[in-house]
Amino acid sequence: MKEKVRIRRDIASMSAYTPTASLDVFARRLGLPVEELIKLDANENPFGPSPLVSEALAKLPNMQVYPDPESGKLREKLADYLDVPAEQILCGAGADELIELTLQLFIEPGDAIVNSPPTFAMYGFDAPLYHGEVIDVYRHDDFSLDVAGIEEAVLRHNAKLVFLCSPNNPSGNLTPPAEIKRLLELPTTIVVDEAYIEFAEAESLATQVADVPNLIVLRTMSKWAGLAGLRVGYGIFPPALMPQLWKIKQPYNINVAADVAAQASLDDVEFLLGRVDELVEQRKRLEAAFAELPFLCPYPSQANFVLNRVFGMTAEDFRDRLARAGIIVRYYNKPRLYDHIRISAGRLDQVDRLLEVLRALANP
Ligand SMILES: *Cc1c(COP(=O)(O)O)cnc(C)c1O
Repeated sequence: MKEKVRIRRDIASMSAYTPTASLDVFARRLGLPVEELIKLDANENPFGPSPLVSEALAKLPNMQVYPDPESGKLREKLADYLDVPAEQILCGAGADELIELTLQLFIEPGDAIVNSPPTFAMYGFDAPLYHGEVIDVYRHDDFSLDVAGIEEAVLRHNAKLVFLCSPNNPSGNLTPPAEIKRLLELPTTIVVDEAYIEFAEAESLATQVADVPNLIVLRTMSKWAGLAGLRVGYGIFPPALMPQLWKIKQPYNINVAADVAAQASLDDVEFLLGRVDELVEQRKRLEAAFAELPFLCPYPSQANFVLNRVFGMTAEDFRDRLARAGIIVRYYNKPRLYDHIRISAGRLDQVDRLLEVLRALANP
């Protein structure tokens, strides 16, 4: 007899992605009150959003009506912010949705994408869902790209997409513009994920997309604008791709609250970038302090987090010791990262507390 329920076998046998948990869940897990937790595991903005966001949300109109499927006003404001035509901008429920849309647009069963781990897990996780084959070209020991390796992999597998994260999550380093330029010569499309570009001393590639038919730039309001919980990201796409993307995008992917919140944030850019500066100060403070500790070796970062190699104990043990003090950091159970820990930059008071706990660990 035929089975009635026949889900995809590849999904039935795949393992799940483990996202960060909410504050409530961590509080329950650790047996600590939410107020005592310092969450430094997901590169979220500890200041929260601009005050203009709460004001705008308090008088949110038209929740009974579907949102603007084109996010027209929001795209106009993004166009101003980026100095890019609104016609080249597509919004998504987080940059995560743009990663999926890009895969949907390009990948036919068996097509290859090139990934450069250790990097953001979503590219490698999502590609198989869209029947893409992931070719991993591991980064060098200092987390710089293996450019020659990527070139070879693209040509050998006829890869349709290359995903690059710059600054890279979790290592924090930028990909030099010359390397991206070299990769753009390949017969493939390069997707540059700039989720952390506001924290970096570097130019975004967004303005170059108009003139480069195989360059896509992804950005987000989650980190610098403190809107991770409302899910707003966007992509800057070559003009030729836009009509195709409009065909496949879910019409109401940006809900009215997210739309209004993102617009209010873009009305308060100067204020938000001031907070970005503060977070960069705290990141620099972390880098300097970590370098002084016997059990951490930090990698230089251009983002709002610092990756460290851990010595003298396992990274898992290090994570657990901080967790007992209410400080949540990111441990990776993954190749090249087993003995590493990523710590997000917090507010001044949070970094004070973290350093106090770490110094107590160093001098028991
Ligand atoms: C956080 C993050 C994202 C996800 O952004 P959302 O807009 O919240 O989906 C994308 N890329 C990288 C590298 C990230 O670290």
